[in-house]
Amino acid sequence: MRIDVLTVLPGLFDCFLREGIIGKAVSSGKVEVNVVNIRDFATDKHRVVDDVPYGGGPGMVLKPEPIFRAYDHLTAEGEKPFVILTEPWGERFNQEMAVKLSKKNRLMIICGRYEGVDERVKAIVDREVSIGDYVLTGGELPAMVIMDAVIRLVPGVLGNEESLRADSFMDRGLLGYPNYTRPAEFRGMKVPEVLLSGHHKKIELWRKEQSLRKTLERKPELIEKLKREGKLTEEELKILERLEKERESEG
Ligand code: SAM
Repeated sequence: MRIDVLTVLPGLFDCFLREGIIGKAVSSGKVEVNVVNIRDFATDKHRVVDDVPYGGGPGMVLKPEPIFRAYDHLTAEGEKPFVILTEPWGERFNQEMAVKLSKKNRLMIICGRYEGVDERVKAIVDREVSIGDYVLTGGELPAMVIMDAVIRLVPGVLGNEESLRADSFMDRGLLGYPNYTRPAEFRGMKVPEVLLSGHHKKIELWRKEQSLRKTLERKPELIEKLKREGKLTEEELKILERLEKERESEG
């Protein structure tokens, strides 16, 4: 996979692309990330990339020309990328979107700054994406959030792909189960007995129950949806029935 990132602050990506799992994915060539300074595509001597908004008002707006020039340059050859523009009002980023994006060969992420980008940039954009209902100073953190979630899904990036299946939102949207590591007892807090038993079937069942319990508590609407769509197994429905009775008796 190749990802082109268009930004006016390329230095922000240095650490992100060097460290941890993302750093390894990049250095091993599993993912190619090309951080492009929009300023390099400005044509005036001061390399200006922003201007005042038409109609007046506060702040500056990213000009269309350098962004289009960068886009034309990067797409002159090869497959056209799927282009994302980071916007607070965009479609809310989630795991389902990350899975879809991880299957693309080429992505481009345009990071807004200041008051945002000139509306005409939308002509080259496939999807406007938001990482939540709050306003950041720029699209660089959203771009890193999107890349982090997408890159770890690229085959071969995680050492143990089994862990992807156990992640929250991956199995029909269900939330993940709690994890413990050594020591078995810490400050009086004990690891659940079943996890020390070495009994794989029982551990699997416990984890399933924990995952359903958490989803029922925090996303009951998802459980209802899965029930309506017949996407829960007999075993899961039985566990849920028991958990629901437990909740009722607890009031
Ligand atoms: N004027 C914009 C508005 O009315 O919402 C806010 C612009 S914001 C200060 C600058 C840039 O940061 C945006 O163009 C966008 O690229 C990025 N940004 C800010 N918050 C974001 C969010 N929640 N999700 C995605 N991008 C965001």
